[in-house]
Amino acid sequence: MIEKSCEFLRKQEELESIKERIVSQLKCSLKDNATNIVFGKGNCSADILFIGEAPGAKEDLQGMPFVGRSGKQLDNLLHRISLTIDDVYIANILKYRPPKNRDPKIDEICNHTPYLIEQIKVISPKIIATLGNFSTKFILALNSFDSSKESLSDFFENSLKKEMKKVKGISEIHGKSHIVKFEGCEFRVIPIYHPAAMMYRPSIREAFEEDFRVIAKIIGTKFKKEVQKKLV
Ligand code: URA
Repeated sequence: MIEKSCEFLRKQEELESIKERIVSQLKCSLKDNATNIVFGKGNCSADILFIGEAPGAKEDLQGMPFVGRSGKQLDNLLHRISLTIDDVYIANILKYRPPKNRDPKIDEICNHTPYLIEQIKVISPKIIATLGNFSTKFILALNSFDSSKESLSDFFENSLKKEMKKVKGISEIHGKSHIVKFEGCEFRVIPIYHPAAMMYRPSIREAFEEDFRVIAKIIGTKFKKEVQKKLV
C-alpha cells in the first residue's frame, strides 16, 4: 500500500515536471492566444487513458480537458460504464487551444506529442481510448516506429505524417481494439468516436455507446441504461 502511494506521488511529480517543461520550453504559436495550458486530469496511475484532440474555449479558460459540452458527453458515458474521473486519466494531442477550434496542424502535432508520449510513459496505462481521428491516427502510427531503424525525432520529422495518413478513418475502425508496441511499452488501443461528433451527427450516438460497451467488456464493468432526467 505504502509502495503504491509512493509510486503515485512519483508519477504526480513527473507529470508536473512535464507540464512545467511544456510551459517553459515548448515553442508554439498557439501559446500566444491561449489563456492556459490544458495538460490533463484524472488518476495518474489509471489503467485507462483517454486522449482527445485539443482544448476548446471552456478548457482553455479552466486549464482542464473536457469540461465543456464534449466533456458532459464523455462524463455521461464514463458513468454508464461505472467509471469516474478517479478511474481514468484524460489528456489531449494538443496542449493549447487552436484558434476557433480548428483542426490541429501536423507541425503542431509534432511539437506537442513528444510531451504526450512522456505522459503516456509515466501513466503507463493498459488501455488507451483514442477520441476521434487525430488521436487515433497519432497513437496507431506509433506502431510503425522502429527504434533500430531511426531515432524518434527522425520518425517525427520524416514518417509521422505519412504513417498517420495510412491509418484508416475513425468511422471504419472505431470500437476495434489494436495492440500498440512502442519503445518497450505495450498497450491496447480502442479508437472511439469523438464525443463532439455526436453533437453535430446525432446518428452516431449509438456507435459511440457501442464503443463504450467494448471498453466495458474489456475492463469487466456493466453498461448501465441511460437514466432519463425527470422533467419537473
Ligand atoms: N475536445 C477535445 O478533444 N479535448 C478537449 O479537451 C475538449 C474538447
